[in-house]
Amino acid sequence: MENEIYDCVGIGCGPSNLSIAAQLHGRREVRNIFFEKKAEFSWHSGMMLPDACLQVSMFKDLVTLTEPTNPFSFVSYLHQHGRLLPFLNAQFAQISRLEFADYLKWAAHTNQNVHFGESVEAVDFDGQHFVVQTSRRQTLCKNIVVGVGIEPYLPEFARPHVDDESNFHIYRFADKPRRAGGRRVVVVGGGQSGAEVVLELLRRTGEEAPSEVSWVSRRENFSPIDDSPFANDLFTPAHSDFFYSQDASYREAFLKRNELASDGISGHTLRSIYQRIYTLRYIEHSPMVVRLMPSRSVGEVWRDQDCWKLAAQHQGCNDQEMLEADLLLWATGFRAARHPFLGALEHRFEREGGEIRVDRDFAAIWSGPADRQIFMLNAARGQRGLADPNLSLAAWRGQIVIDRILNRPRSRAPGADTFVNWAALQTG
Ligand SMILES: Cc1cc2nc3c(=O)[nH]c(=O)nc-3n(C[C@H](O)[C@H](O)[C@H](O)COP(=O)(O)OP(=O)(O)OC[C@H]3O[C@@H](n4cnc5c(N)ncnc54)[C@H](O)[C@@H]3O)c2cc1C
Repeated sequence: MENEIYDCVGIGCGPSNLSIAAQLHGRREVRNIFFEKKAEFSWHSGMMLPDACLQVSMFKDLVTLTEPTNPFSFVSYLHQHGRLLPFLNAQFAQISRLEFADYLKWAAHTNQNVHFGESVEAVDFDGQHFVVQTSRRQTLCKNIVVGVGIEPYLPEFARPHVDDESNFHIYRFADKPRRAGGRRVVVVGGGQSGAEVVLELLRRTGEEAPSEVSWVSRRENFSPIDDSPFANDLFTPAHSDFFYSQDASYREAFLKRNELASDGISGHTLRSIYQRIYTLRYIEHSPMVVRLMPSRSVGEVWRDQDCWKLAAQHQGCNDQEMLEADLLLWATGFRAARHPFLGALEHRFEREGGEIRVDRDFAAIWSGPADRQIFMLNAARGQRGLADPNLSLAAWRGQIVIDRILNRPRSRAPGADTFVNWAALQTG
């Protein structure tokens, strides 16, 4: 056991906790250490397709919204790598996800408080401190920040059939050898990840080109993300705080109504898919069969000799359709990751739906002392709104956590003077 008692132990080093690590870097008043189970940093590497783009502004990096002069900003990364001017001259409309991942990796590996290859296995409370057991050591601390992110989601009926070879979640798509050549591929799921995989398949040529690509979505169309200014205002501290103060039924309905503000497909990807199909059909006269199938709900899958069969229901006419696939790819989204390491404390948390209930500062509401906190990052979409899993508010949320650890009033939020009055005006 180490003698040092930390003020802050971070579990998981994706962007959420890296933002806190960056904002704490060099500040001696908060002794901090962060643990990441992967041997080195990677950011959704299995979905790192060649021209995947960041879906938010580059200013929504680890620090810029709260500390624009912090050395861990994206601009600072460009500067330190000697490419700020070429970056400007390249006039990218969107930032490459590959480049942003490299920025995150640089921020992670240049911060000596971030430790890789060390998984957190259990957290307990000894009455005074949290006891954190990692794969390498035991550590005591006053506050924990859980930032274990998201995990792929598969519909229950699909789970028993996944074989990692011919039937798997697209989360691992880029890691797999090119298995689609000459085969019938079905992609289930009409969000951004599904669209990126479909585009990548349509771009394959020669022996690597699939013979068929079918894209099935429950949505009524292949719908664009709403990236307009007022939709982006849903990704502000003001809206996150407003959302938090509403009752659970309003919040749930709001998330459904505004799904496309976070889960729609980028206009660039949609255009590229449409143009690629045009090129395949009219210019290259490709034999590849492309089926775009919105308004279908897949409800069953089974193995039939040497292929997968899927039963889908058309949501308009209720007709049943049958599809055959040699390669079946599930683009059915992500959910907040579970946190089995909190097992010993589970009975001490309040819950709301499937989430641990958090207070206004993202601290879990639990039965322990008021000056000992477990902060939950990217684990409270139902309570904090659409922006919770996203990069948009990571720096602001990190700043709130640090303010609370230091027991000082909340710093002024970025964009505090929002144009929109989300809450009711006070009368009288
Ligand atoms: C393909 C893809 C593209 C995306 N693109 C965007 C985008 O452009 N813009 C945007 O705003 N959002 C995007 N997102 C949303 C995404 O959730 C966030 O960008 C971001 O990754 C969230 O960061 P996080 O730190 O909360 O979680 P994660 O990035 O998931 O990181 C969690 C980390 O915790 C580690 N971990 C888990 N358990 C343990 C443990 N017990 N001990 C130690 N470490 C552990 C994991 O290994 C992981 O590294 C994208 C998501 C996906 C899947």
